[in-house]
Amino acid sequence: MMDAEIAKMIWALGVVAWFVIRLPHEKRARKTPISRSAGGWRDRVLLAISLSGLGLIPGFYLFTGEPRFADYVFNPVQGFVGALLMAGGLVLFWITHKHLGRNWSVTLDTRKTHKLIDTGIYARVRHPMYLAFWLTALAQAVLLANWFAGLAGPIAWATLFFLRVGREEKLMIDTFGDQYTRYMQRTKRVLPWIY
Ligand code: SAH
Repeated sequence: MMDAEIAKMIWALGVVAWFVIRLPHEKRARKTPISRSAGGWRDRVLLAISLSGLGLIPGFYLFTGEPRFADYVFNPVQGFVGALLMAGGLVLFWITHKHLGRNWSVTLDTRKTHKLIDTGIYARVRHPMYLAFWLTALAQAVLLANWFAGLAGPIAWATLFFLRVGREEKLMIDTFGDQYTRYMQRTKRVLPWIY
């Protein structure tokens, strides 16, 4: 039976899987020299916000049940929809990490040997890894039957996404010039044909 406790478990397992997928890339990234950084303090604040909304707040809710005033009655449909969103997000996260390879970084940086990736899933949209984050953030919102802990995910993620994506594209234009502007002309940000 799908109940609120199982849905919480699905969220927690998703977070663990997310870290497992990222770990080898994190390790490799540390060894790959950086050439240009557009991040700075602003990017670190955004990362702290998204870590809070996607990790600390829901984690606190999982362990303490707080804030209780924001609880609402769980509908089993949420569990199934959330599991699908989470699974989709994790698969996409895995694919995009594999495809970006050494060009990935947590903060807004380009590497010494940076290559523009515009094939595979990157031929469909420019920010498929961010789409993966959207899916897991939405999974959190439906899996946790608490307005505060649930919505903290998409709100925090939207903050990082909208305040970062334009700067990231500028960094890419500064680095790759026409090659990136042409890539922008034939792709959307996260949803093919839409946005
Ligand atoms: N926004 C992308 C990548 C996220 S990782 C996505 O959602 O899939 C963030 C880093 O990826 C940035 O520091 C930037 O340098 C790099 N990056 C972004 N788009 C890229 C691309 N098409 N090819 C290579 N590197 C890219």
